[in-house]
Parts: sequence; structure tokens; C-alpha cells
Amino acid sequence: MIKVLNSLSGKKEILKPHYDKKIKMFVCGPTVFDMTHLGHARTALSFDMIVKYLRLKGYDVFFLQNITDIDDKIIKRANEEGVLWKQIARKYEKVYLQSMKSLGITAISQYARATDYIPEIINQVQRLLDKGYAYFLDDGIYYDLSKFKDYGKLSKRTTLQAEDGVSRIDEAVGKRNRGDFCLWKKSKAGEPKWKSPWFFGRPGWHIEDTAITEKFFGPQYDIHGGGRDLMFPHHEAEIAQMEALSGKKPFVKYWLHTGFLTINGEKMSKSLKNFITVDEFLQKYEEGARILRLLVLKNHYRLAIDFNEKIIEQIKKELKIFDEFEQRLKLVKKEQKGILKMQLIKKEFYLAMDDDFNTPKAMGIIFSLIRRANLLIDKNQLSKKEAGEILEFLKEIDNFFGFIFRKNKKKEMIPAEVLKLVEKREKYRQEKNFFQADIMRNEIKKLGYLVEDTFNGPVIKKLEK
Ligand code: AMP
Repeated sequence: MIKVLNSLSGKKEILKPHYDKKIKMFVCGPTVFDMTHLGHARTALSFDMIVKYLRLKGYDVFFLQNITDIDDKIIKRANEEGVLWKQIARKYEKVYLQSMKSLGITAISQYARATDYIPEIINQVQRLLDKGYAYFLDDGIYYDLSKFKDYGKLSKRTTLQAEDGVSRIDEAVGKRNRGDFCLWKKSKAGEPKWKSPWFFGRPGWHIEDTAITEKFFGPQYDIHGGGRDLMFPHHEAEIAQMEALSGKKPFVKYWLHTGFLTINGEKMSKSLKNFITVDEFLQKYEEGARILRLLVLKNHYRLAIDFNEKIIEQIKKELKIFDEFEQRLKLVKKEQKGILKMQLIKKEFYLAMDDDFNTPKAMGIIFSLIRRANLLIDKNQLSKKEAGEILEFLKEIDNFFGFIFRKNKKKEMIPAEVLKLVEKREKYRQEKNFFQADIMRNEIKKLGYLVEDTFNGPVIKKLEK
């Protein structure tokens, strides 16, 4: 039984999809006018883990994500650079998809570009006009918020409070309510435009998502996700559109929102220009994708993460713990019966994960398992069977954690010279000639390696520079 904190009710609820174990899920994707940054990566990595976890638990998840490839910001950027809007949109879409690939974000079933769904968008706008939820102004068609009484039920804001909405409120003369948003914008000269029954124009931001999800899922579906910045007004507007169109409530059963990735306490964003791009990060850190995954999953998906270099150094140390642990487990040879209660540990771990994907708690259980197992290895009390069981468990959870084992492991080639010295030292050690053995150890150190004695023989480690 999985519980999720539903932003709509503000409570933890048992996850029960509309149909059996089939989940229809949508997460807001990027507006493609600039580089993909670590903030995007945070939200993308959180949902990648959630979907992979749900699949491992036997749910059949169809995970859809839109790409906003037409928007004021894209047009502005294109004008600044003197190129066509499409060049900007396609360039940054490519950057986004490449970043997702480099980060191992593979859970998404389908991407949907807004401009590929213009007929569906026009259809929704027409139906909103027919039902009396929309009206014409000189520069476009607007949604009349006073007609939708439930407005604010997700973010707990009232229509009146919508008056102080600041993000992406469409400005226009003659709007009936300040929060009214544009469904279809009349195109100005030189702007991208599509033919419609009313005038040449382009879609407003909110309508693209409901048009896409209605096409794929119908009027109601199971999970909608996104960063918490989108809860108001974007997700609120989506509810207003779709529930007005279909009369069916709720439009979405479970709303999940991720916390921000901040930098010096401020949301990392394109607009604030305080961002670190995914490309920069992956170039700077050899294991950047793995580092980011651990950083994101150590934190609860709903809470903010404040990014700084110090945290990264800590994460690198933690990854090393996993690497060394894997190496140690593989060397265990002891045959006797074990004492670790693996079934209990697994149960505790999955209880934490089932409780609104509590990865920090689950991770704590893994770190304590590593500590205990390492102590047992030190005392030669861990059995080969237990080591195998732990490795199997770690492999299983890496299906959704994705950072436990190094990907594309470049087998660390230990120089022949070092191997020879280790062999020599081991011989001296067996002969109890510790004086000579220590000399060998120092020689090995000079070559940048450390040799550690374990019950299962010498382990060689590369020294940090
Ligand atoms: P955008 O292109 O800004 O609309 O963002 C695309 C997705 O990334 C949305 O789900 C946003 O909520 C999310 N996002 C953007 N910036 C951040 C951030 N700093 N922290 C977490 N999520 C973010």
C-alpha cells in the first residue's frame, strides 16, 4: 500500500488509480528558451525515481511530459538573437533531452510538444467559449475566473487572492478579473501564428497541458506533478479549464509537487539568472549524474534543497562508501550462518518508500545497514550468503535510486608494478616479516595506492590526490 501526500487535500492518501494498477501520469516539462539547469534536474530526478519505484511495485505507469515550445519567453529570446522562434525552441529542446539522457532520466514514456497539439488546443478554447467560460478581448480570448467557483482549491488561494498573483499573469486591458488568463493570443506582426476560427494566434500557456492530457488520458487522470512554483497559477488554471470543460471532478486525483532547488536560499531559475547548467555540472564532476541523484534523493522530494559546493564534497564521500562497500561485499568468503536480519531491514526500507516516497528515511536505513555490515566484515562475521543478499537488495533498489552502483565503470587498472609489490608484501606478511612488509607498504603508497588487510586478503585502494 503506497501513500502519497496529495497537494489537493493536503493529506496523505492511499494511492488508488482509477483503473486497477494502471497509472496515467503527467509532469510539467520545460519552456525551452534557455539551458537546462540543476533546478530542472531536481524535479526531473524526483519524478524519475517515483515512476521507477511505482513500476517496480507493479504499477503500469504511462508517464507523459509536455514541452512548451511556444511562449512569450521563446519569442523574446528569438527577437534578441535575431533568429526564428523555432530555432530557439528546437535548440533548447535538444539541450533538455540531452541533459535528461545524461542524467539517466529514462522513466518518461512520451514527450509532447505544445505546437503538435494546436487542433486540440483550439478545440478546448472553442468549448470553453461555448460553455460561457471564456470571452474575447482585443488581443485574445480569456478565461473568466469568476465563472469557476472552485478556483484556488489546490493552492488554497481565493479568486480574490489571485489578484496578487505575480508569475506569468497575462496583462491586458479590459480583463474581467485580474487573474483571468489568456487561452488564445492574437499574434502581432512578425510573431508565430496558427489559423483558428477566430483570428491568427497562438496558445496561452495553461491550455496546452489540458489539451495534451485530454488527448492522451481523457478528462480525468491519476497523477499530476511539477515543481511547487507551478501550483499557482498554472495548475489552478489547468483545473479551471478541464473541470469546466468536462464537468467531472477531480480533474486529477493526486497532485504531487517537488520542492525547489535553491542557491543561496533563492530558487534557481532562468529568470533570476542564478543557475548552474546541467552541462556545466557534468563537465565539472566526473560522476556528476550520480552525485546529483544522491543529492536529490537524500532529500524528500517535497522539500527544498539548498545547493552549494560543500554538499557536493560530502556526497562524493558518501558515494565512495558505496563503492568500497560493494568491493568489500564481493570479497566475503565466510560460509557460516549469518546474523543480519535482512528481511526486517528490507521491510523497514519499503515501508519508508511506501510512505510518500520517504527517500531520506529509506537512505538512513541503507547507511545503517552499511555500517553494521562493515563492522561484521571487520570482525569476519558476515557470511557469503548475507553479502550476496545485500548485493541483491542493493541491485534491486538501484532500479529506482540509480546512484548506488557506478555506471559505465571504467575498471580501475592497477599498475602491474603495484600488484607485484602487493604480492611481495603479502608474502612477507605470511612469513611474519612485518618490517619488510611495512617497507613494501610505503613503496606502494609512493605509487599512489593503499593496501588494506582484510580477512579475505589484501584490498588495494587508490589514494585521493
Ligand atoms: P520551467 O521550464 O521553468 O517551466 O521548468 C520545468 C520544470 O522544472 C517544472 O516542473 C518546474 O517546476 C521545474 N523547476 C524549475 N526550476 C526549478 C527549481 N529551481 N527547483 C525545482 N524545480 C524546478
